[in-house]
Amino acid sequence: MKGNNGKVFLVGAGPGDPELLTLKAVRALGQTDVVMIDDLVDRRVLEFAPAARVIEVGKRGGCKSTSQDFIERLIVRLASRGKIVARIKGGDPFVFGRGGEEALTLARAGIECEVIPGITAGIGVPAALGIPVTHRGLARGVTFVTAHSRDGTGPDWAAFARVDTTLVIYMGMQHVAEITAALEAAGMPAATPAAVIQNGTMEQQRHVIATLSTLADAARRAALGSPALIVIGKVVGLAHPAQRAAAQRRIA
Ligand code: SAH
Repeated sequence: MKGNNGKVFLVGAGPGDPELLTLKAVRALGQTDVVMIDDLVDRRVLEFAPAARVIEVGKRGGCKSTSQDFIERLIVRLASRGKIVARIKGGDPFVFGRGGEEALTLARAGIECEVIPGITAGIGVPAALGIPVTHRGLARGVTFVTAHSRDGTGPDWAAFARVDTTLVIYMGMQHVAEITAALEAAGMPAATPAAVIQNGTMEQQRHVIATLSTLADAARRAALGSPALIVIGKVVGLAHPAQRAAAQRRIA
């Protein structure tokens, strides 16, 4: 390893509300020279990195965005010039966030990388709405899955209909009708509670709570779009939308 290398913090910013940052993330941001920040991350987190130069590396679905390759080259270049870099991602950096690829690239380049976990949207967003994803007696576990894969194929939805876990689907808004129809065709009861939650834990949070058979229509009528999670399972029946106010209350 070269002696003058800097360091990279791969930081999870949590699902949206900036108060869901960890203390470790705040401390790391305070030490950084450069922050590379994703689209989904609330800009208020930058107040914890007062000395840093900020590079936006947005990646909105569908739009022109910074390529992963470019981002990785840039992180390596900055760190190998001795900079302390914070790469901030929404949620947890290793959950559908390509953080693993960045960590591998840094390891290959001999650059120190410290991963700071964050609360992934699949945990924090349902929780803020009062949905206990593994409620005893209602779910044997929780499955995180993305509807969006590199080769364009979806997962085997029928397999998920059989496992009796809460299903939390990331990046699924283009496919709500297709996913719910596949689950129903595979034997999941039409009345299974289901929700779509957009911008969870943030002030602009919007959601619908429906059933497996009515979810696609409900989400379309409410004009919900990305970033949103689809949550399917009996535990959605425990949702307590009033929780929302508490989640948004600021610590004074
Ligand atoms: N690393 C992130 C996920 C990145 S993939 C994490 O751990 O949470 C981006 C997807 O995450 C979005 O398309 C959406 O499905 C989900 N997501 C992220 N933030 C969200 C939020 N505040 N509300 C609802 N869904 C969110």
